[in-house]
Amino acid sequence: MKIGGFTRFSLIDYPGHMCAIIFTQGCNLRCFYCQNPELVLPEKFAQPIAQEEIFTFLEKRKGLIDAVEFSGGEPLLQDGLIDTIEKIKIMGYLIKIDTNGTIPDILNEILKTRLVDYIAMDIKSSLKNYENIAKVKVDNNAITESINIIMENAPDYEFRTTVVKGFHDKDEIEKIGSLVRGAKRFFIQRVLFIKTLEDGFKAEDFTEEELQEFKKTMTKYVKYCTIR
Ligand code: SF4
Repeated sequence: MKIGGFTRFSLIDYPGHMCAIIFTQGCNLRCFYCQNPELVLPEKFAQPIAQEEIFTFLEKRKGLIDAVEFSGGEPLLQDGLIDTIEKIKIMGYLIKIDTNGTIPDILNEILKTRLVDYIAMDIKSSLKNYENIAKVKVDNNAITESINIIMENAPDYEFRTTVVKGFHDKDEIEKIGSLVRGAKRFFIQRVLFIKTLEDGFKAEDFTEEELQEFKKTMTKYVKYCTIR
């Protein structure tokens, strides 16, 4: 397993929990707005962090933080992911995984272990526009399969869309909503342009009114929706 970053404490990434975050190296997508290019582009990878370092930290923090998130990159691409999750789960931590939803077989396998407590899946756009954001070929069936697997089998979950002016509008939100109809939790995420995979990419921010309109639209499809 290749770990490219580690955040010791976050209050905002796992609803209701204090978590540490393990960032894995490598992704099969190339979303132009990606805010972690150093975890996606192999030429930008840093020397991986040793797992033992993280295990030692987690042993010491038992009772102070209660969850560990795997983010990336795309964590489901990692060899040895289940072994690592198992070791952390044995320490008593809740486990959250962030995924882009392109590898349903592995997602299914991981959920079957019952080691994972929460899945967060990105929905980039409507299926028709996926490749305009991911910038690589995407199997739309894999996306819908992952959505179904999560809604049927994940103990807890969220879907989320990072919205970018010029790519997302009310019609896109309607189409995304119909993909996740009946879902428990949905987050509309503002994009930050501090650093992006496509160097120097910028777009105008959505206004608060526009974001509220997206939220109102998504609320027709899901049980809970908010903006973050
Ligand atoms: S946004 Fe997520 S799925 Fe897209 S390139 Fe970055 S890490 Fe990969």
